[in-house]
Amino acid sequence: MIHPSEWPDQFEDDELDEAPFFDDSLPPDHRSGFVAVVGRPNVGKSTLLNHLLGQKIAIVSPKPQTTRNQLLGILTISPASQPELPPAQIIFVDTPGIHEPHHKLGQYLVETALAAIPDADEVVWLVDASEPPTAEDRLVAKALHSSLAGTIPVLLALNKVDLLPLPSSETSDSGEDDLAQPFLDLYPAAEWLFVSATRGDNQTELLRRIIHHLPLGPRYFPEDQVTDQQTRFIAAEFIREAALSVLRQEVPHALAVWVNEFKRRNEKMTYISADVVIERESQKAIVIGEKGKTLKKIGQIARPQLEDLVGSQVYLELWVKVRPKWRQKEEELRRLGYTTHEK
Ligand code: GDP
Ligand code: MG
Repeated sequence: MIHPSEWPDQFEDDELDEAPFFDDSLPPDHRSGFVAVVGRPNVGKSTLLNHLLGQKIAIVSPKPQTTRNQLLGILTISPASQPELPPAQIIFVDTPGIHEPHHKLGQYLVETALAAIPDADEVVWLVDASEPPTAEDRLVAKALHSSLAGTIPVLLALNKVDLLPLPSSETSDSGEDDLAQPFLDLYPAAEWLFVSATRGDNQTELLRRIIHHLPLGPRYFPEDQVTDQQTRFIAAEFIREAALSVLRQEVPHALAVWVNEFKRRNEKMTYISADVVIERESQKAIVIGEKGKTLKKIGQIARPQLEDLVGSQVYLELWVKVRPKWRQKEEELRRLGYTTHEK
């Protein structure tokens, strides 16, 4: 178990002083810890986290690799909230998909994904059970082997069970076993179960197993805290998601959103100014659109979500900035907020 203060970059200074959050009234069997959710792009990690946490935090997109930063989602389970589960606080780390690095950003994604694994108390390895293992699944398994060497429990969650044909009663168990086996062959020590992130199958059972493997420990965050991610970052993700949904033809990697100003003007109004960063001058016209229509549409999609997030009306200003080859520049990556966790 690592102390949350060892996660720089994820906390505001004044929040550090408050963590960990001890509560004398917790039962002695209370469990807590970090759970890394790993898996290749598009298997449903963000969807699962959103479902488990009951609110939108990680970005979900039919395009792969839209989650770039590690997102902390905190799930506090108490007898009042979920009496069917033992009391616990699960701190989820959503990792980018582990995949073959193609350029610096790809490399960075792999590094952060790998970095999240040894820090965790356990790993949930999510796969898409509706397809046989891919080369990328093998890469994830390899990363698990090399970074864990069997020291941390791995829970293999076979997702998208809703896409599988319904098993007949006499073949159900062996049918499932057959589907799980090719994944288990890649990491034989894993415990496994089928889930559906979208339909909800087996999610309570998944939580029960996650809690079972957590160490005894206190709450590290107040009960009502769902995520510690700076609102600013989530705001940037919402804007980026809106941009991706409007710019269907564009490569997600070529676009970043950088929130410059985030000011609560008064009870009713928050002012947000953000840059939509792209790589080529030629992309600028596409993002802005004819008479600014496309950019306006991005703002229109993002604004209601931002208003939900901050709990006030939002005045949103979007700017389009060209930063040639920003993906290649690590310095720039850091400036854009894609920080690595150096130890
Ligand atoms: P990530 O890249 O691993 O974070 O994957 P996402 O959460 O972004 O999901 C990728 C795609 O798979 C999205 O279109 C999801 O709606 C879809 N998806 C996720 N979970 C399920 C599931 O349980 N069943 C089905 N049918 N689709 C799912
Ligand atoms: Mg994701």
